[in-house]
Amino acid sequence: MDLEFTSSHLALREAILDLCSRFDDAYWLNKDRVGGFPEDFYRAVADAGWLGIAMPEEYGGSGLGITEAAVMMLAIAEAGGALSAASSVHMNIFGLNPVVVFGSDEQKRRALPPLIRGETKACFAITEPDAGLNTTQLTTRAVRNGDHYLISGRKVWISTAQVADYMLILARTTPLDEVKRPTDGLSLFYTKLDRNYIDVREIDKMGRKAVDSNELFIDGLLVPVADRIGEEGKGFQYILHGLNPERVLVAAEAVGIGRAALGRATRYAKERVVFGRPIGQNQGIQHPLAISWAELEAAQLMVFRAAGLYDRNLPCGPQANAAKYLAAEAAVKCCETAILTHGGYGYAKEYHVERYLREVMILRIAPVSPHLALCNIAEKVLGLPKSY
Ligand SMILES: Cc1cc2nc3c(=O)[nH]c(=O)nc-3n(C[C@H](O)[C@H](O)[C@H](O)COP(=O)(O)OP(=O)(O)OC[C@H]3O[C@@H](n4cnc5c(N)ncnc54)[C@H](O)[C@@H]3O)c2cc1C
Repeated sequence: MDLEFTSSHLALREAILDLCSRFDDAYWLNKDRVGGFPEDFYRAVADAGWLGIAMPEEYGGSGLGITEAAVMMLAIAEAGGALSAASSVHMNIFGLNPVVVFGSDEQKRRALPPLIRGETKACFAITEPDAGLNTTQLTTRAVRNGDHYLISGRKVWISTAQVADYMLILARTTPLDEVKRPTDGLSLFYTKLDRNYIDVREIDKMGRKAVDSNELFIDGLLVPVADRIGEEGKGFQYILHGLNPERVLVAAEAVGIGRAALGRATRYAKERVVFGRPIGQNQGIQHPLAISWAELEAAQLMVFRAAGLYDRNLPCGPQANAAKYLAAEAAVKCCETAILTHGGYGYAKEYHVERYLREVMILRIAPVSPHLALCNIAEKVLGLPKSY
């Protein structure tokens, strides 16, 4: 068992850190204050060819695996842009996995190259106000009429919908009371986000101001049948396919934010002198930092364990859930420790650690909550009765 990164992984990490160094802490602090999509950062990542890291080569991507994408996302978050940076490119990196796996060649030719070149942006429209984590209960309807569907309904928390040109949307094509299983009858579409039929309202939220999240009110959106991904009624299965790699990537982002916070806290603990000695000489300051180091290292091992399984086409559900759970918990704890290490200054924006905490909280909640990640492990690994 080899747990070391290869020289290409390390070179990839260095290249990403080098690119990110053009966007310093002041850049991200300003984005945190005034908002606005980090277009110049996004453009830099696109121009350097990184958006297609895990996309097939025949559509302009690099054809690398989720392992390499995780190395990349970890470095982006760790460089100080935290989730504001990671979320601005996250959708391009892996969001269109259902199109890659289940779309037709014609759909891939239409969708992937512009996304990889950074010419179009897309959002992922699944969550609904009245369904929550129970996706099968979503009520957005897609009704077929000849060569079109008419979509109406409501979505919530949809990130980047302010700037997106396209959306990957899950809607019910067969009513719930007409299907055998609630997972049947949902269909997936990759289609234009036409603002004439979609009212996009930004949610004022705790952090990551630069990357918007929104409510979507969809009223009679006309969607060509050609925009349906795969078969009608199988959308839920298609979405499931992409969940594990997405968990791996967000877990990598959490580890990256934890590392950024740990780095800042450690530097501060060496420099800040109180009672005539650096605060880092006190075990009460040292131990929580050392625990965070150990927890982030452990979480990282699970991230790359899950990524490796996925890249070898092996089942990785429990490992991906464990990686997401461990990384988010460790990172949130580490960011809180970093604030405490800074004392009162930890609460000041110019020290950045409070920004990290506000952003990393998202990774505890989404895309799956700690409860549901643990429910999956309890059921699938421990054989306990399904609880949800
Ligand atoms: C900043 C942000 C960005 C997001 N971006 C997107 C996006 O781009 N696209 C998208 O589709 N969604 C997005 N989401 C939505 C996100 O995936 C959901 O918020 C998340 O899946 C939780 O759903 P919910 O908020 O409806 O919680 P609910 O389903 O209402 O759950 C509330 C709480 O109850 C717990 N709970 C519920 N049922 C059970 C049970 N049976 N056992 C134990 N605990 C339970 C949950 O774990 C959770 O803690 C985003 C969310 C945030 C905060």
